This record gives sequence, C-alpha cells and structure tokens, in this order.
Amino acid sequence: MENIKWSELPFGYFKTDYNVRSYFRNGSWGELEISSSEIINIHIAATCLHYGQESFEGMKAFRGIDGKIRLFRWEENAKRMQNSARGIMMAEVPTSLFKEAVLKAIKLNERFVPPYGTGASLYIRPLLIGTGAQVGVKPANEYLFMIFVGPVGPYFKEGFNLVNMQVAKDFDRAAPLGTGNIKVGGNYAGSLRALERAHKEGYSSAIFLDAKEKMYIDECGPANFFGIKNNTYITPKSNSILPSITNMSLMSLAEHLGMKVERRQITLQELATFEEVGACGTAAVISPIKKIVDRETGHVFEFCKDGQAGPVSTKLYKMLQGIQYGEVEDVFGWTEVV
Ligand SMILES: *Cc1c(COP(=O)(O)O)cnc(C)c1O
Repeated sequence: MENIKWSELPFGYFKTDYNVRSYFRNGSWGELEISSSEIINIHIAATCLHYGQESFEGMKAFRGIDGKIRLFRWEENAKRMQNSARGIMMAEVPTSLFKEAVLKAIKLNERFVPPYGTGASLYIRPLLIGTGAQVGVKPANEYLFMIFVGPVGPYFKEGFNLVNMQVAKDFDRAAPLGTGNIKVGGNYAGSLRALERAHKEGYSSAIFLDAKEKMYIDECGPANFFGIKNNTYITPKSNSILPSITNMSLMSLAEHLGMKVERRQITLQELATFEEVGACGTAAVISPIKKIVDRETGHVFEFCKDGQAGPVSTKLYKMLQGIQYGEVEDVFGWTEVV
C-alpha cells in the first residue's frame, strides 16, 4: 500500500481488507467464508466467553529478497492448534482447512505484505473459539475458526536488541498439569498482572519459574527461554511450557552449526554460568537478554556487558531470518512459497 510506513509499523492490530471464517456445526466444518467485517456475532452464552474455550496461533509470512512471499512452518501451527483444541475439548481444525484458510487470508490481503528490506512482515492470527451456548460447564457443540492478518513491525522497535527481564516468583503462569503447554487465551489472562508489573518497573517481560518447586525457569512471558554456554544450546524442559516453533527451529539450527542441544531444567542460579541468554518466539525471533533481575532478592544476572548481543544468538537470529526472507538456502524445508 502506497502510504503505509512499513519500517515504522508497531507489533499490533492493523485493519486489512478481509478475514476468513469457518463454522463447525452439527459435527462438521463448513465452507470457508470470506468476510470484510472486523466484527463477529456470537451467542451471549458462547463457551468462549464464559469458560475459556479459546485457542489462537501466531505465525508470519515474509516478502523475500526475490519478491516471493514465504510462509514459515505453517504445518507446525496447524498441529499445535489441533493439540490446543484437544486440550480444552474443542473441535479440531483439520490441516487441510487450516492451510486453505492461511493461504486465502494471505492472498486476499496480499497488498498488506510488507516489502522486503523494511523489517516488517505479515502476522497471521488463527483463532478457534467455542460459539455454542452452554450455561453448565460443558464443551460447546459449535465452533468458529477464523484467521485475520496484518502487517507488523519487529516486536521490539529496535529489532534485534537487548532487553531486561524480571523474575516474578510471586506469580505463576501455568500449573504443571494445567494448560501451559497449549496455546490458549486463559494462560495469557493469568500472566497479565506479572507482565504489566514488569513493564511498569521498566522490564520487557516477566520470567516465570516452575509453579511447583519455584526453582526452574519456565517461560519469559509469551516467549520461550534459552541459554548458551560451552557450545551448547540449553532450553527448559517442563510440562507447563508452550512448545515454541521458533525454539524448535533454533534447536535445529544450533545442531546444524555443530552445537550440542540440551532440553533440561535450568535453575535460577545456573543463569550465572551462561555466556548468552535470550527469549524466542515468532514475534521477535530472538530477544537477547542483557539483565535478569530476581524481584524478590534483588539479585542481578548480567550478560552482554559490551552492550552487544552475543555471537551465538546473533548467528542463530541471522540464519533464521535469512531463511524466512529467502536470503539463505532453506535446507530444512521450513518455508513454503505462497
Ligand atoms: C506462542 C507462544 C510462544 C512462542 O511460540 P512460537 O511458535 O515460537 O511463536 C512462547 N510461549 C508462549 C506462552 C506462547 O503462547
């Protein structure tokens, strides 16, 4: 579009031309519908409003150096949304419907895919909600699956930049046998107080520890955590972490670079031994962390003392972005040209 300032876009909602929708009724999914409305009309007793039957996804399409649009690992998002649906007893969106919806949403809004070189991309937001009416606590028998898209800038204005985080021991994001491992809105509602406090106190995000022992790092707000030391990529293993597709990709890249990869518990004290630490997710790919402050004890773990992101994080970031923008050969088959 002529007058969008692509390189100044925030990470936020942006009105585009169309969204796509499919309704699950009488046991099956209906035809994909195209809508130009930003509004959905739902029953006042819909289960998404009362009992949290809601799951979402987030992924991106990128305008490459060759002008083509690349979608990154969409099958993983489809699988994850199916897993989320099973986790809170919603109808699963079949992979074929998911794909049709993603492709259609991109095609219909192609003019909003940011040009190559602006640092911006098209964010794709699939949503699945229980729309059937229930007043007793029961899963709905009707669902709406929809996708809207919008151009976004890098999650943090400065792009690949150092951030500070705060350990919030007095809040839990998710319980060990709860819903932390699926992408449902309820987890986010439960994390808002800790996140907003962290923002107010000057941090980019809050780090949550495991809810049971309060010893191990779980997640960095809406992102996974990783640390680097001794040529090893280390990321937490926990039942209450959302399996990040970015993290999964970074693990593969680290292995590809000849590094060791470990998924295991990471104590707060171990932070002192890391050469680099970061948060990862679709929105920012990697946010290298400069400082982690334990809010309870005031203890500070500091990294990147020269003010620069570490070499390993930088390399991983550049490789992953290079694949997404078609600058680096995609030997993993992660991208699909749309
Ligand atoms: C979506 C999400 C992530 C990041 O996952 P990606 O697939 O890499 O975008 C991490 N943590 C939580 C809690 C999430 O909801």
